[in-house]
Amino acid sequence: MITASVLIVLIAGLMIYWFYFKEDRFTFQVGQVEFAVENHSTAGRSSIQDEVTHAYEAIMGAVKGDYDPASQISLEFYNQKDISFATRDEVVLFKDQGHFLTVHELSHALLWGKEEQDDRGYWALEGLAIHLQTEYGDPVYPNYDVSPHAIMNVVKEEGMMIPLTKLCGTSMSRMLFQPSLESDGASRSLQWISYIESASFVSYLIDEYGMEEFEKVFNEKDSLQQMKEVYGKDAAELQEDWLAYIDQESYKLSEREQKKVPGLEKRRSYFGEIDERYIH
Ligand SMILES: [Zn+2]
Repeated sequence: MITASVLIVLIAGLMIYWFYFKEDRFTFQVGQVEFAVENHSTAGRSSIQDEVTHAYEAIMGAVKGDYDPASQISLEFYNQKDISFATRDEVVLFKDQGHFLTVHELSHALLWGKEEQDDRGYWALEGLAIHLQTEYGDPVYPNYDVSPHAIMNVVKEEGMMIPLTKLCGTSMSRMLFQPSLESDGASRSLQWISYIESASFVSYLIDEYGMEEFEKVFNEKDSLQQMKEVYGKDAAELQEDWLAYIDQESYKLSEREQKKVPGLEKRRSYFGEIDERYIH
């Protein structure tokens, strides 16, 4: 009798251990990349393989230029909520509202620039990642499948828009896009605005001028100069066109959409604490 219950407890313990702490490792090939997966999440092998394959094909199918991804990329999956990130050969994914930012982070890794410098224009990197995630991936940060244009209209109406000269320039880019992990609510809110604004502006550029033109400013060091050469307009002129474009009835944030964006009200509550120098 005792041995039976001990056995049951032991088996149950092992199952719990396997379910929550298992470290499932496997590899698979998609296109020219071998993905080495370290799975700490409850997602199964085949669902991970399907999701990564779908993301790879969507990203590589959307871009026109030549990219040279690493021949092996390590992928880590975790169940808990934390900040996902990517380098050229490593992608670490945490869950956000039950989903992984697979398309977003994989786009950073696959479309990594030739040089590993920091200022390759965060606005273009993040804007494209969110644009692709919204188009091909699950609903995750920062817009949860809601049109970035609709959220951008709210930001604009609140007087919190970052001028494009600042968003796309290099002097403030670290503060806007990469605040320290232990930063306060206002910095997080500013980062969220930067992401939403980049997504809206990049989607506008791609829809209006095409992917090929956008890729000429993507992964470039001096975005502002490059934008002028590619689009024949400076940041102020492009800003005017873009804001006019998103100012339509179909891009007004509905109540239903508002509920889909977790934390929108929380971000908003910090708007008053954001330093004026970023938004004027
Ligand atoms: Zn990103």
